[in-house]
Amino acid sequence: MILKGKTGIIFGVANRMSLAWYIAKSAYEQGAEVILCVANERFREKVGRLCKEVGAPEPLICDVTSDESIHSTYKMIADRTPKIDFIVHAIAFAQREDLQGRFVDTSRLGYHTAQDISAYSLAALSAAAEPMMSEGGSILTLSYIGAVRAVPSYNVMGVAKASLEASVRYLAEDLGPSNIRVNALSAGPIKTLSSSAVQGLKEKLDAQALSNPLRRTVTGADVGNAAAFLLSDMASGITGEVMYVDCGYHVTGRVSG
Ligand code: NAD
Repeated sequence: MILKGKTGIIFGVANRMSLAWYIAKSAYEQGAEVILCVANERFREKVGRLCKEVGAPEPLICDVTSDESIHSTYKMIADRTPKIDFIVHAIAFAQREDLQGRFVDTSRLGYHTAQDISAYSLAALSAAAEPMMSEGGSILTLSYIGAVRAVPSYNVMGVAKASLEASVRYLAEDLGPSNIRVNALSAGPIKTLSSSAVQGLKEKLDAQALSNPLRRTVTGADVGNAAAFLLSDMASGITGEVMYVDCGYHVTGRVSG
């Protein structure tokens, strides 16, 4: 029970396949109290049913494109709990047409949208969380290897993830004096609502399963377990880090078989 006595906010649950959901389950199993946030009304009912499984209250709505929405969500959180110990940022979005073809063809609006929702939102949610982390805390986001390599079709999202990973380092530096740690998990490809928008996901899953050192695809539970560790005091000396949960794919030179 490495998260016993801790309270955390988890942003980005859309359904049972969401990485945020695996993290919520793992945090709950490790003793944490969790509050789930969804993007809009559309997700509230479905995620409301999931909340019961992790002892969470009804989900809150937080649209990260709106400062007003972020502000009112944190106000509602403050009404429920005097302090929080961790937040999980599992949010990303890019226009579908920007997740196929060539990166060079990305529109200004497509670039801006991906950066705003997938990268800037981490800074905005962290700034809002800081006053509630009076006893220190842990902030966790989710990245992908497309941040550091040009992965076909990942395109504008890879650029947003590079920005996200840099944000992790700057936020770690800023919030470290308040004993708030900021880290990212870089997960291997897992089928979810968002990842299904990336053209060729199945091929990526198959190729990684064949070529990574563990010779299997990454699971949601792999991500949930690693997240629980980074959110807990077991990781008290780790901040500004991007930790790969990809069955070792990023270290190998193997192409397949
Ligand atoms: P998902 O679709 O389940 O989660 C993405 C979430 O982002 C959804 O809950 C969606 O509602 C939310 N979101 C989008 N726009 C938002 C907005 N304006 N305001 C608030 N929330 C908004 O997919 P997922 O794969 O679980 O993605 C979670 C995170 O994990 C993302 O950052 C993704 O890039 C990252 N990731 C996923 C994989 C993968 O293969 N699935 C691999 C590495 C990293």
